Amino acid sequence: MLGLLLVAATAAWAAPQRSASAFDHLADRIDNDELAPSGTADAERIVAELRALLPPGDAARDMRYRYLNCYLGFNNDARGGFDYATRGLADARVAGDANAEANFNLCRGRYREMLTTAHDALADYDAGVAIARRLENPRLTADALTFRGGVASLLGEQAKALADFVEAQRLYELTHRTRAAESNLLNVATAYRRIGEYDKARVYLDQAKTNAVRRGDVQSEYVADVQLGFLHTEQGHPELGLEVAQEALELAHRMGDRQSIGAARLAVVDALIAQKQHAQAIEVLGQAQADFAAASDRSEGGMLNLDYGLAYVGLGQYARAIKALDVAERELHGSSNLRYLAQLYEARSATYEAMRQPAAALVDLKRAMAARDVVQRMARTQYSTWIGYQFDSQRRDLENRRLRAEATLKEQRLASLERVRNWQAATLLFATLLLLLLAALAVRQYLGSRRLRRMALTDALTGIANRRHIEHVAGVALRQALAARGELCVLLLDIDHFKQVNDRCGHPAGDEVLRRVVVACQRVLRRDDRLGRVGGEEFLIVLPDTTLGAAEQVAERLRTGIEALALDDIVPGLRVSASLGVACLANPDENVDGLIARADAALYCAKRRGRNRTHVASGEALDEERPVVAPLAHARSGGADVASATAPE
Ligand code: GH3
Ligand code: MG
Ligand code: MG
Repeated sequence: MLGLLLVAATAAWAAPQRSASAFDHLADRIDNDELAPSGTADAERIVAELRALLPPGDAARDMRYRYLNCYLGFNNDARGGFDYATRGLADARVAGDANAEANFNLCRGRYREMLTTAHDALADYDAGVAIARRLENPRLTADALTFRGGVASLLGEQAKALADFVEAQRLYELTHRTRAAESNLLNVATAYRRIGEYDKARVYLDQAKTNAVRRGDVQSEYVADVQLGFLHTEQGHPELGLEVAQEALELAHRMGDRQSIGAARLAVVDALIAQKQHAQAIEVLGQAQADFAAASDRSEGGMLNLDYGLAYVGLGQYARAIKALDVAERELHGSSNLRYLAQLYEARSATYEAMRQPAAALVDLKRAMAARDVVQRMARTQYSTWIGYQFDSQRRDLENRRLRAEATLKEQRLASLERVRNWQAATLLFATLLLLLLAALAVRQYLGSRRLRRMALTDALTGIANRRHIEHVAGVALRQALAARGELCVLLLDIDHFKQVNDRCGHPAGDEVLRRVVVACQRVLRRDDRLGRVGGEEFLIVLPDTTLGAAEQVAERLRTGIEALALDDIVPGLRVSASLGVACLANPDENVDGLIARADAALYCAKRRGRNRTHVASGEALDEERPVVAPLAHARSGGADVASATAPE
């Protein structure tokens, strides 16, 4: 049960889907002329099929059905078609369906051509062309242009007509509508025939007919035959004209379309009159009249009456002829068809002449000449306009191609320029990045090497010069002093009983004491004096431009400074002292090692003599040292070897 329901539901859902796509498929085929109906019955069958596929409640597709039905469904009912198109047009406008609106315009124009005159249909076709162009729909535009061109051609405006046909042709080719493109050749051929370019018309008509036969396109074959019929007659071969016009009539019968049957009969009549078979012509005219009436086509009244007039003239029935020609004149004036009017005036003039009414004959003769003149002038200007148009369009094509080629070239150039620019930018960016990287590396290298140099030259614990560096400084100072014959003294400073500081307060406290001693020394020393750490708790001080006396004073200031250092924050009550050896440059042969060795000897003396004191080396190398000053504390305590580095127990 459930399964059945499901199947039903699926079918209900799927049916409109299938129907919609089937509808679209069929409608597309009609739109693309794949289904050119072979006649009225065929057209009605196609419309019925389309109607059956129309999904219920689908407003957009309903609109499409309606305009296709408008084209196909009223072959023998111009009045009905016109009303149907007018209603469709109003509904399409309300629905805002511009595509349908354009199609209803075209469809209405077609029926209006039959109901009144071709001229009246122009407004519908113009509207169709405008909408189709606005929609940028090439297929619709081509159809609209074909309709409009048809009217222009009928009215004698062949240059205008050809411009429309040629544009339509391009669009048909663009949209690959081969059938429509081939049918359009018929329009071009008709326009050429009406200009009097019979040879060109012939080429196009033969080509169109061959195409139509090959495709089995009865409608196009019929049109080609009608036109060929007129062409042969106009070229002075009415027997050929009659033959082809009768073929056209047969095809029209097969199509079952009364309007087409009537039109084919007019071609037959044309050939019959040219062959002076006037009675037969009148008979066929009667049949044609019935055909047009059946299709409610009233547009052929002018043509029918003109032919009646010509036939009656041929039969010598002048009064009837004049009557028919007068009616024809009114109708042809209405449709502003000068081509036919010229023919009419000639016929009426001949009739009046035969009726021995020379004045009336002259009037019509003048009219005929004037009309002919206008028609010929129009044909000439149209032809030159057309040649100009062709030339223009060729030139335009050429120009467009040239512009396109130039634009492409420019685009390519721009693109390659852009590529080059991008490459340049990328290269620049890359180079900049590389430079930045190199700079960063160089800076790092520089900083690194500076750090290494600093590390190589400085003592890690105290930040002052290490042994190597301070000895180098001393060397430089010595050479400078010797070169300048200046003074130079060095001091060796050793903290007294420092081992005990470490032992009692710990190694880290000892480190801190070393740092404090350095700070104390730096405070005492002058700008050009240099301090370096040469051993664990032993420092070398280089004093350029310093006399022995001054050096002694510096040494004492250092010693007292260290002695006065308050180190309670490290270990409460902690005090240190230092012993110093002073040596000054005494002779020009002395080197750094000798000078330092003498200072060291003096230091040794200071230690030996009780520490916390300064001892000055004599001028001689490693000579007897002389004490400078005995610290007060030591003097007071009198204990030379008493530890001056004391810490609380
Ligand atoms: P004197 O008065 O004879 O110079 O006695 P002293 O104890 O100062 O001399 P000694 O040469 O016997 O001891 C030097 C001590 O210095 C030994 C070592 O523990 C200490 N010392 C050396 N370098 C450092 C250091 O970098 N940090 C610390 N905390 N102690 C150091
Ligand atoms: Mg020492
Ligand atoms: Mg020491």
